[in-house]
Amino acid sequence: MIDLHTHTTESDGSRSPLELLQLANHIGLEALAITDHDTFSGYDQAKNLNHGFHIELICGVELSTHYNGRSVHLLAYFISEPPTLKFRSWVEGLQTGRHVRNEKLIAKLRSMGFDVTLKEVARLGKKLPGRPHFASLLVEKGYAASIQEAFDKYLDENATCFVPRDEPAFEEAIERIIESKGLSSLAHPIRISRAHGMIEEIVGAMRMKGLQAIEVFHSDHSPEEASFYNSLAQRYSLAVTGGSDFHGNAKPHIALGTGRQNNLNLSFSILEQLKSKRD
Ligand code: AMP
Ligand code: ZN
Ligand code: FE
Ligand code: FE
Repeated sequence: MIDLHTHTTESDGSRSPLELLQLANHIGLEALAITDHDTFSGYDQAKNLNHGFHIELICGVELSTHYNGRSVHLLAYFISEPPTLKFRSWVEGLQTGRHVRNEKLIAKLRSMGFDVTLKEVARLGKKLPGRPHFASLLVEKGYAASIQEAFDKYLDENATCFVPRDEPAFEEAIERIIESKGLSSLAHPIRISRAHGMIEEIVGAMRMKGLQAIEVFHSDHSPEEASFYNSLAQRYSLAVTGGSDFHGNAKPHIALGTGRQNNLNLSFSILEQLKSKRD
């Protein structure tokens, strides 16, 4: 079994890179990709700690991009060669957008009467606080009953305190991934739209812009949806990727490797197919 979509404490996961490796080892994962939001820091640490485990560690990153007015998540994998320094420094630059957004978000929450500070948010995360950390703080302080409620009421795109963040255009991210010899995959297409016709149109257009793969298997995809995304992969000659989107306690219903209620069991052949696509 493999898992190509996971987060550590270097973004908004609750397990450190070492704890993630230990868990992966415990459940017998053959390959693990760390795909933190906008940082390689979790992967870099894991790479240095991956001794004695029989796990093939894959370098990845999850980028939030904007595409025709929507926020679209793009996974980038560096399967046969490491990301270039140019790509790494571009990714580091994206973190500025998060810091700016975090300052604005805390100001907005405070203006709504919530007694919260950026320091308190930073305490809950390690490196790069994201909205899940703001949600945890709102729960901790009794302003929301659950993380989900904190998102629904305050943090979601349609909620009262939402603050947009500077995100790169999908086209720019794709170009930079290609230039850096990475492989791009459209993350959790279910979050873009549930309408099959619309998804097909979007995926076809993205393919023309250089998209190389689609995340067919994900904790949030039903078997029917996965099979639809698989048919799109065939039709548009896209490679197939899959992963749980594991965040640890931050998303307690999602398990490493096996996803939501055991809806995932990805074979090593998926990684082999990506390698042959790269070569
Ligand atoms: P950020 O990248 O800091 O804007 O935070 C985005 C992360 O927040 C996503 O990766 C999800 O883990 C989480 N998230 C976004 N929207 C929701 C939502 N409506 N409900 C629960 N979690 C969400
Ligand atoms: Zn996340
Ligand atoms: Fe995502
Ligand atoms: Fe993710």
